[in-house]
Amino acid sequence: MATAEIAVPDPAALSSSQQRGTQCVWCTIALTNGTARNLGPRPIDAHGTSVLWFPRCCHHCWDERGLAEWR
Ligand SMILES: [Zn+2]
Repeated sequence: MATAEIAVPDPAALSSSQQRGTQCVWCTIALTNGTARNLGPRPIDAHGTSVLWFPRCCHHCWDERGLAEWR
């Protein structure tokens, strides 16, 4: 199955730390540059303006969701 991007939670439902990429978007564990996996930039609406969001997750959630193919 060719999917354009990894499905992530609605950013509006996440904490500011998750939106900033300092916590995993799924399990909220604190992330560092060494432990975070980038999920790819995606456009979101911020007060009527389209901006790019860079969600990140931890290795555990990455593996659990079988995202290894995304690298
Ligand atoms: Zn996680």
